[in-house]
Amino acid sequence: MWIDLILFFLLFALFAYVFVTVTITNLHKAYLVFHFSMMVWPFCQFAIKATENSKFQLFYVKLAFVDMSMLTIGWLLFTLFLTGRSLFPRRKVTFAISVPALFAALIVISNPNAMFVSPLDGGYIQRAYGPLFWLCITVFIGYVVVSLYLMYLALAANSPPRIKKQVKQVLLGIVVMTAFILSDIFINVVLLHSQEVIPGLTSIGILLSAIIFVIAIHRDKVFDIVTIAHQDIINTIAHGILVLDDNETIVEINQSLRPYVDLHVGDHFDITSILPHHESANKTNLFIQAYQEYPLERTEIEVIYHHIIDRSYVHIHAAPIMVGDTMVGRIITFQDMSVLRRLIDETNLQNQILQERNRSLIAIQQELFESNQKLEKMAITDSLTNCYNRHYLTQQLELEVMKNMNHQIPFTLLLIDIDYFKSVNDNYGHLVGDQVICNTVEAIKQHLRPRDILARYGGEEFIIYLPNTNQTQASILAERIKSTVESKKMIVSQIKPALSITISIGLLALDKMSMQHSKDSKSTLNELFQSVDEALYQAKREGRNRIVSVAR
Ligand code: GH3
Ligand code: MG
Ligand code: MG
Repeated sequence: MWIDLILFFLLFALFAYVFVTVTITNLHKAYLVFHFSMMVWPFCQFAIKATENSKFQLFYVKLAFVDMSMLTIGWLLFTLFLTGRSLFPRRKVTFAISVPALFAALIVISNPNAMFVSPLDGGYIQRAYGPLFWLCITVFIGYVVVSLYLMYLALAANSPPRIKKQVKQVLLGIVVMTAFILSDIFINVVLLHSQEVIPGLTSIGILLSAIIFVIAIHRDKVFDIVTIAHQDIINTIAHGILVLDDNETIVEINQSLRPYVDLHVGDHFDITSILPHHESANKTNLFIQAYQEYPLERTEIEVIYHHIIDRSYVHIHAAPIMVGDTMVGRIITFQDMSVLRRLIDETNLQNQILQERNRSLIAIQQELFESNQKLEKMAITDSLTNCYNRHYLTQQLELEVMKNMNHQIPFTLLLIDIDYFKSVNDNYGHLVGDQVICNTVEAIKQHLRPRDILARYGGEEFIIYLPNTNQTQASILAERIKSTVESKKMIVSQIKPALSITISIGLLALDKMSMQHSKDSKSTLNELFQSVDEALYQAKREGRNRIVSVAR
C-alpha cells in the first residue's frame, strides 16, 4: 500500500531536483516553492479526511499549519519584492522576517499538551483548537498586517505607476485570501458547534489569490529575466538615462541622473529646465533650438553643474527613438566628463608651465650664445685698437699660407711700426700715446678690403695680411697707407697743435714662383715674419717714414 506513496515522493523529489539545479533564476525557484506551499494546504485538508488513522490525521493537520507559516513568510517576501523594495532581500533580513513564523511552526509541530489542537471523537477530522492555535493565528495575521502596511507605503510614496499597479493587484489577492481564511476560522472553528462544517474555504482563498498573482506576474512580466536585467543595467550604468515618450513625458529615469535633475516617471519633461542657468545663453539656446525644431536629429551639449563643493562637466546627448520612420520618443543621456575634463585641464596647465620653462631656457640659451660670441670676439680682438690680436692673426695665417701655397695664390704681408713713438709717450704721456695708436689704426683701416686682416703685432707695431695681392699692388696700397697716416693730423685732446706721425713699413710679397712645399705651416710662417721684420728694420735704418719691399 505504501509503495505508490513512496514512488510519488521519489518522483516529486526528482521534479524538485530538476528545478533546483537548472539555470532558472532564484526568483523563479522562490516562486516555485511559494506556489508549492500554496498547493500543500488543500492537499493536507484532503488527506486529513482521507485517512482514518488519527496519527496520520494529526500529521496532516500539523503539516497544513507548518505550511501556513511558510506561506506567510513567502507572502511577506513576495510583497517586499512586488513593492520594489528589493529584488532579493539580504539573508539576515529574510531570517529576521522568518523568526515569528518559524516560532509558530515550532508550536504547531510540538503541540505541547495538545494546546494547539486536540482530537474530537478520537480523530482529527473533527478537532478542537487550543490557545496556542490563536497565538499562531495572531502571528499569521501579523504578517498580513505588515504586508498591508508595506503596500500602503508603496501606494502613498511616489512609486512608479508600474509598481502601484502591481501592489493594487496583490492587495486584492491579500484581501480575497484573508476574507476566505477569516470566514473559514469563523464558520468552522468559532461556530463549530452550531453550524455544519463548510469545507475548502481557505483552499479557495489560496487558489483565488494564486490566480491573482499569476495574472500580475504575467501582465507585468516581473519574472521576465530580460526586464529585470534591463532594469538592473539601467540603474547601475554610470550614465544618466532619461527616456521620453512622444509627448515628452518621462517613462524611464535611472539612478545616475539623480544628482543633476529632480524628475520622476510621469513628469512632463522640459529641456530648458535641466540646463544650468549660468551657462552661456548662446550655447544653450542653440541646443534648445536644435532639440525643439529638429527632433529627428541627434543633438548634444556640454554643460557644467555646480554642486556645493565641486562641479561636474556633463555631456548631454539627445537622440530620437525610431520605430521604422516614426519617432516614438527620445532618449537623453548624461555623461559625466569631469574626470576627463580635469585631466585635460591639468595637462594644459602642465603644458603651459613647460612652455614657460622652455621660453626661459631659450632666453638663457640666447644670453649664453651672445656672451659666448662676445668671449670669442674678445679672445681674438685687441682691446685698445679693436683690431685682431696677434694670436688670431697667427692662427688665420697658418691656414691661409698653406692654402695659398697649395693653390699657388700670391699674397703680401705688411709690417708697420710708428716712428719715434717713445718720444710721444715721453713728451705727452701714455694716454696720448694710446690715442695716437688708435688714430693710426683708423688711418690704416681706410685702405683695407674686407678680406684683408689687420692685427696688432706688438706695442705700436701692426701686421696686415693682403690675400691675392702681388708686390706691385701691395706697394701701391702701402704707399697710400703711409701718406694717409702722415697727412692725418693727430688731433689729440689737451694737445695743440696736432701731432704729426709717420710710420715705417716692411713689405713682403710672395708670388707663386717662390712658394716652398717642404716645411710645415708654423715654421714657414716664422720665416715669413722674420723676413718682413728685417724689411721693417731696414726701413728704420734707412731713415724711417718709408717702405722697404722684399719678395720671396
Ligand atoms: P723707432 O722709430 O725706432 O720705432 O723708435 P720708437 O721710439 O718708436 O721705438 P720702439 O718702436 O722700439 O718703441 C716702442 C715704444 O712703444 C716702447 C713703449 O713705451 C711704447 N709702447 C708700446 N706699447 C704701447 C702702448 O700700448 N701704449 C703706449 N702709449 N705706448 C706703448
Ligand atoms: Mg716705433
Ligand atoms: Mg715698435
